[in-house]
Amino acid sequence: MDKLIENLNAFERQVAETLEECGRSGERIEIVAAGKFRSPETLSELYATGRISAIGENRVQEFNEKYTPEMVWDIIGRLQTNKVKYVVGKVRYIQSLDRLNLAEEIERVAAKRGVVQKCLIEINTGEEEAKGGIVAGELDKFLISLEKYPHISVCGVMAVAPRGVGEEALTECFSKARDAFEKAKRGRADFGVLSMGMSEDFRLALKCGANMLRPGRILFE
Ligand SMILES: *Cc1c(COP(=O)(O)O)cnc(C)c1O
Repeated sequence: MDKLIENLNAFERQVAETLEECGRSGERIEIVAAGKFRSPETLSELYATGRISAIGENRVQEFNEKYTPEMVWDIIGRLQTNKVKYVVGKVRYIQSLDRLNLAEEIERVAAKRGVVQKCLIEINTGEEEAKGGIVAGELDKFLISLEKYPHISVCGVMAVAPRGVGEEALTECFSKARDAFEKAKRGRADFGVLSMGMSEDFRLALKCGANMLRPGRILFE
């Protein structure tokens, strides 16, 4: 059997096992394949299985080179304001909305094109200076400040865990994102996505409530 399909089968099996372990059997978990460095051919073969919901790209240039309207795409990496014009209306979610000037530019471009751009708010769970994302405690305030943008629809939260930390610290990071997500969800329609978990940490992310995973290497290598 093809390696890609074999990897996907094994990954889905592990997801199902983990869901069972944490009492979430049968829940639908979206898989967004992290496409960085992967060829368009590999990505379309994976997408054609119908078992992943989107390809997630980090860099706008790479997204531009690979983009085809036959597939669903998300932006999952830090987005510069001057690149917003290349993605609005083409991607399903901008998963990395993390600052007001970025929101302002998304609003401007989306309004001009007559579209509503769906976004997730990136939370910086490790509160590392160098990384993008807002701190969990500021989610509510940030969401309120986005209400003035009619062409942005906020659909949930995305979190990237810090690298090289132990299971305990990881659990703490994911739980912090989940708690902020749950709190923000109250009273908000269409706010349902909790995107966290990559190849190394997806089991833990599932145990902490993730409903969207972003695996990369585990699918392709
Ligand atoms: C690369 C990347 C992933 C996937 O990482 P793997 O370790 O290859 O599974 C997920 N999310 C983001 C934001 C990424 O940059």
